[in-house]
Amino acid sequence: MGRVLIVEDEPAIAELISLNLRHDGHEVQVAASSQAAQGAIDRALPDLVILDWMLPGESGIQLAQRWRRDARTRDLPIVMLTARSDERDVVQGLDAGADDYLAKPFSTNELLARIRSVLRRRAPQVLDTAIQVGLLRLDPATMRVSAGEVPVKLGPTEFRLLRFLMSHPERVHSRAQLLDRVWGDHVFIEERTVDVHVKRLRAALGEAQCADMVETVRGVGYRLAKPVPAGA
Ligand code: CA
Repeated sequence: MGRVLIVEDEPAIAELISLNLRHDGHEVQVAASSQAAQGAIDRALPDLVILDWMLPGESGIQLAQRWRRDARTRDLPIVMLTARSDERDVVQGLDAGADDYLAKPFSTNELLARIRSVLRRRAPQVLDTAIQVGLLRLDPATMRVSAGEVPVKLGPTEFRLLRFLMSHPERVHSRAQLLDRVWGDHVFIEERTVDVHVKRLRAALGEAQCADMVETVRGVGYRLAKPVPAGA
């Protein structure tokens, strides 16, 4: 499942959410202030952020607004958590870019359900659902990839790379973005590493006549192209 960053300054609530998320199979990190949250985001992008509104330092709203303005964090799925349940506040939270909004006190089951729903919508690669693009089918539960009837054999990194690309077909990703999202850290790995693994991925896909689906966008990065159906 996903890597979730919990931004919450009340230890009891942070602990309660952590326990439940870990039990649900997520990898969890907690930041108790806006500064710690920004530090965690700078090091590696999580798959989803649970963001408290009232924090020491910058508010959750300010954090969400800043993340939405920055290209690197623009698509970060955010679930806002707050004691405020006034309708105006809900609107402000959603305007700031939150994908969903939950008022305290909340039921942990509801929180987990909302997290799954946001992930399904915004980061399907995190959930164990099979993805299909053109002939290519990738099943995270069994770690199998096939193109029609032809099985495709991939190493673990190429599998993660393909899973990410297939979850965002037609979108161009820079090498830095791919390091961030597939390797989980954009700071300490050379961008050339991405090229090495893309080359291996293409070689594996080539055996199933699908190598062309991984396109190089010159000067920008890579894209997984959706093949145009025959006759369209
Ligand atoms: Ca708080």
